[in-house]
Amino acid sequence: SLSIGIVGLPNVGKSTLFNALTKSGNALAANYPFATIEPNVGIVGVPDARLAKLAEIFNSARVLPAKVEFVDIAGLVKGASEGQGRGNQFLANIRETDAICQVIRVFTDPDVTHVDGDISPARDIETINTELILADLQTLEKALPRLAKEAKFNKERKAALEAAEGAAKILDSGTTLYASGTDLADLRELHLLTAKPFLYVFNLDADELEDAPLRARLAELVAPAEAVFLDAKIESELVELPDDEALELLQSVGQEESGLSQLARVGFATLGLQTYLTAGPKESRAWTIRKGATAPEAAGVIHTDFQRGFIKAEVISFDDLVAAGSMTAARAAGKARIEGKDYVMRDGDVVEFRFNV
Ligand code: GDP
Repeated sequence: SLSIGIVGLPNVGKSTLFNALTKSGNALAANYPFATIEPNVGIVGVPDARLAKLAEIFNSARVLPAKVEFVDIAGLVKGASEGQGRGNQFLANIRETDAICQVIRVFTDPDVTHVDGDISPARDIETINTELILADLQTLEKALPRLAKEAKFNKERKAALEAAEGAAKILDSGTTLYASGTDLADLRELHLLTAKPFLYVFNLDADELEDAPLRARLAELVAPAEAVFLDAKIESELVELPDDEALELLQSVGQEESGLSQLARVGFATLGLQTYLTAGPKESRAWTIRKGATAPEAAGVIHTDFQRGFIKAEVISFDDLVAAGSMTAARAAGKARIEGKDYVMRDGDVVEFRFNV
């Protein structure tokens, strides 16, 4: 499955956040009997109010949200791209993730020193981006002579060479490939770090959570990438509390949703993922697919046999189902569609698959 690597400079609250993610993942894993979770992986459920509604209609015994996997990637320090610290391990680990989440320190605490002295989100973002850019430039430096040779003997390799040359120019100017908006298709084979989608977590003091001008300034620093604002210390407390007390703590700092839930939602979207829904007395569940997935591909997420033996899908949109009040009523109202193997899944589809085994 797809994962998001969490990186950040030392003392920004990465471990605090990651411990909260791990706790939340262990709670969630109890619902997924066959899930094994690696120690450096934290899993969060993607909040989805539609599931509770489906559970009500179908009298489901349980609700299973989609989930997002975060991987703790230690070892980002200045010079990591040159192998400083455990830089090489850091680069190898981050290469395997599908998106990069930077944790940026905003909170001030005289007892927690910052590696570069004072608190400066803009400088820290620059420090991290510089390491990632330098790593990509090294990759390109190695790849360019090989690509030039290939392009000489094979016209089809010209696009790859030109894309790599273009990427080197962008990176030389200090811009990440993701932020540059350049076409990344011909670069995919190089697995460049800054071509991955980025998202940002700003770790704020509790009293900064409601500071709209501050949040706007920080969001602007990283746009068009998405930003999540949270207080890692509060997140680590929230995961220890029963639901009602957690809600009380959240409301006391002016928040409606935990930072982890926001992170799950934003992370899910950043990975280019989408859900469809199934519902019955056993469970109401959100299943994860890539945007643009067809009905057989969606069936394959439940079981590979469902994809192989796919016949058709009965699809009702969530809103139609809720308006009708039951599956039977929705069918009677002509809201159930029979879709074939070319159907492209839409967000909010409630589905029943028919298949041969
Ligand atoms: P890491 O090095 O990035 O993994 O940072 P840690 O999670 O170990 O945090 C470093 C120190 O900062 C610890 O003493 C944390 O308790 C503290 N810390 C983490 N997040 C916050 C926060 O949001 N506010 C405050 N005041 N302290 C925090």
